[in-house]
Amino acid sequence: MLLLNMEITNGHRSAEQQKMVTVIKELKRQRNALILVHNYQDPAMYEIADLIGDSLGLAKAAVNTSAEVIVMCGVRFMAEMVKILNPEKIVILPTMEAGCSLADMATAARLREVKHQHPDAAVVSYVNTSAEIKAFSDVCCTSANAVQVVNSLPQDKVIFLPDRNLGSYVQSKTRKRIILWDGYCFVHDKLDAETLQMMKRRYPGAKVIAHPEAKQELLALTDYVSGTGGMARFAKEDLSENFIIVTECGMTDLLRHEVPEKNFLSFCNVCPYMKSNSLSLVARSLATLRHEITLPEEIIVGAKRALDRMMAIAVK
Ligand code: SF4
Repeated sequence: MLLLNMEITNGHRSAEQQKMVTVIKELKRQRNALILVHNYQDPAMYEIADLIGDSLGLAKAAVNTSAEVIVMCGVRFMAEMVKILNPEKIVILPTMEAGCSLADMATAARLREVKHQHPDAAVVSYVNTSAEIKAFSDVCCTSANAVQVVNSLPQDKVIFLPDRNLGSYVQSKTRKRIILWDGYCFVHDKLDAETLQMMKRRYPGAKVIAHPEAKQELLALTDYVSGTGGMARFAKEDLSENFIIVTECGMTDLLRHEVPEKNFLSFCNVCPYMKSNSLSLVARSLATLRHEITLPEEIIVGAKRALDRMMAIAVK
């Protein structure tokens, strides 16, 4: 999690962006709003951010704010998570185009069927799921704590959803039986091991940091596997100068901005959902309070229970 209190200094901001930033800052003041920006967002969003970070870190950070309105510059499941942990606040997603095809691959109807086939299995859902799926789960997990969460459960069998690559990674680290869900993030899943091999040959000595939503054969070629929060920590603390960053392209932009003394090479794809946010949409969302996230009470209660269980396990 990065607490942001500095200006962008690269001088590449256009006059139009500059004007929009000024408008957003004034609207933010009038609305008593907090703006959360996910690590994958475009660098143009950094300057309006109160916080930049990963999805869970942002949702948790919002709990202690006195802001009345929270704008989530990320995707819908992230905004839902902010709402689940901050139900009394007005939570806004600037555009409804910011969905997530991975989250959409897990439906409650299918989960009921799988649970019926494996009644003795625990249901562990990655935070990249809808609020409805979280409410149906025994516990949630992030890419950083998935192994710890699974190992902490009394059940020997675990239905793990929705990402098959993260599930396979967990299976490689646990003795429990993981029932994989056939979901994937296309941004990570299409990154291939052969191209990474070529990059490693071209840049010998560069440390490879990858997101666990990538395939197993690719992860086997890396030095460190983590979600975006852990990636940022590793890049800052490791003594290497050169890194290959394997995830959505915005992560490399952020690391270049945050750690300018090191070199970050990118092996990445762009997520169109993440990049559907923009400064003008944030300005519109603050002016109109669209699109407000609303969730049924029972979904908030059930999803919060699964998130709270995860947090209780992950801090032990
Ligand atoms: S990067 Fe993948 S998991 Fe993240 S929002 Fe985009 S499609 Fe969903």
